[in-house]
Amino acid sequence: MKTVFLVVPCYNEEDALPETARQLHQKLSQLKEQQAVTAQSRILFVDDGSKDKTWEIIENLNAFDPDSFDGVKLSRNEGHQKALLAGLMEAKQHCDAAISLDADLQDDINAVDEMIQKMEEGCEIVYGVRSERETDSAFKRNTAHGFYKLMKLMGVELVYDHADYRLMTRTALDGLAEYHERNLFLRGIIPMIGYKTDKVFYKRGERTAGESKYPLKKMLSFALEGITSLSIRPIRFITALGILIFALSIIMLVYSFIRYITGQTVAGWTSIVFSVWAIGGLQLLAIGVIGEYVGKIYLETKHRPQYFIEKSLHKDE
Ligand code: UDP
Ligand code: MG
Repeated sequence: MKTVFLVVPCYNEEDALPETARQLHQKLSQLKEQQAVTAQSRILFVDDGSKDKTWEIIENLNAFDPDSFDGVKLSRNEGHQKALLAGLMEAKQHCDAAISLDADLQDDINAVDEMIQKMEEGCEIVYGVRSERETDSAFKRNTAHGFYKLMKLMGVELVYDHADYRLMTRTALDGLAEYHERNLFLRGIIPMIGYKTDKVFYKRGERTAGESKYPLKKMLSFALEGITSLSIRPIRFITALGILIFALSIIMLVYSFIRYITGQTVAGWTSIVFSVWAIGGLQLLAIGVIGEYVGKIYLETKHRPQYFIEKSLHKDE
């Protein structure tokens, strides 16, 4: 029997949290009764610098049942990925395995049983995979699938239709701790850890309450983060494009030389104007892509701390 922590990052989740806590508490009690997990197993909420009553709710939960609820408060809003990392690293000190899940319970908590079972069979990482996406809007579904295809094209292997709902044993968490990246894209890093892994399938539901904290703008920047923090293929594409255009320019040179010899040099205004714009645009694009990576290198070399834990609620046995 293992000590399992459920790690839940929360950002402005005062609407969803009471119901989420109730359901998770019920699940955890049930697991403890079935002797699937030890009595030291807990739910760890990470408050990602919320501006609403999220932390008060977490404090109350901890006061009400310190054997079930732990809490960690980050000093400011760091985003889902860092909040999750903070939670996992905190949980690592007390548990044998941690399961990460969202505060809105869109991920079916009944998949937890199967995850624990797979762990008992020797898996170090168990991925929760959505068997269908009916409850997501067609737009979200299509952009998400487009994103997986794009990532594959960029040479990044992701687990298809897996978000951040997964079980990791302490061995896997120790592995994760060795990745000191500031530009964090957990879904891309975790498959690199290796070990024996498996998948558990579940249906994704609606949010229990509140609104999505991932509007389109955040989704796009998350996707860009994913690509540029894991793949250097965009730079290669640009190099290839540069070689191609250089080859074309040699053809153009031969062409214009022939025209010069035959005395037809006035023609060509259209092609010159077009070339100026095309090359100008491509150069800007190339500089932009390189800048994107230079920016990443800049952030990595600073070795800034990932997050600060302002408060921590944990009752030691
Ligand atoms: N979240 C967070 N920090 C943020 C944004 C979101 O910790 O800056 C948490 C949020 O509370 C939730 C999870 O990340 O538990 C996923 O967010 P959400 O459900 O809004 O995303 P969606 O499911 O719509 O992609
Ligand atoms: Mg959600």
